[in-house]
Amino acid sequence: MSVPEPQPDGGLYAARQKIYPREIEGRFQRLRTLAAWVLLGIFYVIPWLRWEGRQAVLFDLPARQFHIFGLTLWPQDFYFLTWLLIIAALSLFFFTALAGRLFCGYACPQTVWTETFLWMERFVEGSRSQQMKLARAPWTTEKVLRKAAKQFLWITFALWTGFTFVGYFTPITQLAGKIVSLSTGPWETFWVLFYGGATYVNAGFMREQVCKYMCPYARFQSAMFDKDTLIITYDDGRGEPRGARKKGVDHKARGLGDCVDCTMCVQVCPTGIDIRKGLQYECIACAACIDACDEVMDKVGYPRGLIRYDTQHGLEGARKRVVRPRTMIYATLLALLVAGLAYTVTHRNVVGVDILRDRNALYRERPDGKIENVYNVKILNKDSAEHEFTISVSGLPGVEIAYSGPTVWVGPGQVQGVPVRIRAPREAIAGGADIQVNIQADDTPGLRASGRARFIAPTD
Ligand code: SF4
Ligand code: SF4
Repeated sequence: MSVPEPQPDGGLYAARQKIYPREIEGRFQRLRTLAAWVLLGIFYVIPWLRWEGRQAVLFDLPARQFHIFGLTLWPQDFYFLTWLLIIAALSLFFFTALAGRLFCGYACPQTVWTETFLWMERFVEGSRSQQMKLARAPWTTEKVLRKAAKQFLWITFALWTGFTFVGYFTPITQLAGKIVSLSTGPWETFWVLFYGGATYVNAGFMREQVCKYMCPYARFQSAMFDKDTLIITYDDGRGEPRGARKKGVDHKARGLGDCVDCTMCVQVCPTGIDIRKGLQYECIACAACIDACDEVMDKVGYPRGLIRYDTQHGLEGARKRVVRPRTMIYATLLALLVAGLAYTVTHRNVVGVDILRDRNALYRERPDGKIENVYNVKILNKDSAEHEFTISVSGLPGVEIAYSGPTVWVGPGQVQGVPVRIRAPREAIAGGADIQVNIQADDTPGLRASGRARFIAPTD
């Protein structure tokens, strides 16, 4: 068996070198920290919120109902999910065309959770240089204790993440009680451990490898870039030739650019790349290198922005066109889709009706000459309140329900079936025709629905 040749760039078969990103402060880091707090806050807090006596957001798969505050979605409403996915895809196109991998840098769960795990690592093991020193050090009691403390924090946080995730699908207070009494069911146990395990492995160990080798977005993002897309870029026209220099020296007179070759931009990079080599697919656009380089520029007294958000046209000195037909089209489509979804969700009919014929008898001829058919009328109440419904029938001359104004109480989120006898004069119909069965909530005029059914009659 042939052994693969070592790659000259340390490539395909090279063992992973652990990256120790240096901690950084700056305006983009503050933005990222804020985004992480908001997103993690939303994720961990939402399952604990209550709404009208139930969990505010609960994806109740056994009952086939998705509760989102005052909204309850049923399987019939699943086209909303398709709609949401289209909006998500278009948002990705829009923001990528506008400002590159904004999602990756600020909002991707992999980035946010990795950042959180890095905070815990720094809390226990110290700064970048302390972490590297600890990694090289022999296994002393201190090292064992520090590593154990870090693993404890990581595992606890990962399990809490798995628990929270499952809390979106099963009532979280009940789940908490079951975990305390060690009585969770097999599926709950599996998903808490699976999601917790995935968080632990992805954010604790795989980190940038998920972005580099697993994320498909990294591969096709460049297809969405053009020369007017804002990207994080190094201005090599200004920075090169790079090189160290003494403070106060006129570097331009010595033929040097603004880059002092301090490698701070590389040390802070969570994917371990050198942005000075140009745009690379590994770059998740976290902007840490901008903050690092701005800090260096401040120290040496040069203008900020050697690494910055810019477009290719901007770098070449041409006119920047961040707002352009492509972004306008994406923005318009996005606005239309979001407005359409908001209108449809808020104006959707929350009641439905199904009419099923009684299969035991085709029809019955009554002594008064009328023909009678029996149906099972199923009323679906997707509203969060109980309603009383009146059933009526139309569509044929003289068609009527056997007893006047039948009413049915249907609880919130329930389906109620009721048998209904419908009669029509024999002379009004021969062979059969369609009738319409209507339901109307007595307390809310706008809450009504109707369905059609075949009315069977003799052919003579
Ligand atoms: S941080 Fe700025 S000055 Fe330092 S190496 Fe990077 S680009 Fe050059
Ligand atoms: S190159 Fe800069 S923006 Fe890209 S991942 Fe590294 S630090 Fe973040």
